Amino acid sequence: MSDLIELRDRIRVFTEERDWGQFHDPKSLILALVGEVGELAELFQWLPADAAADRAREGHLHDRAAEELADVLIYLVRLADVLDIDLGQASLRKLRGSSTRFPADQFQGQAPDKT
Ligand SMILES: [Mg+2]
Repeated sequence: MSDLIELRDRIRVFTEERDWGQFHDPKSLILALVGEVGELAELFQWLPADAAADRAREGHLHDRAAEELADVLIYLVRLADVLDIDLGQASLRKLRGSSTRFPADQFQGQAPDKT
């Protein structure tokens, strides 16, 4: 069993134990997800771009980023579950498509115009 499937199943149990499924319509989950992305963005909002990665690798910012990333992942996994989407498979399919669209030998060190 993949970590993603285990996480999905644990979120299901957490939700069912609290009877919170009634609140987990797609719109509400998307808004919750966007809210958590906003909390993550807020951590980096005023950091100089060239220093952000170094500062986030340890200490308080590292811990806070981990918490917000976890919140984002939990809502993302729950949303995919509610929509009956296999998130792992969909992501692998998307990555394969990106590999085809952006061959490594043609895009080496070059930012794509769009992803
Ligand atoms: Mg949060």
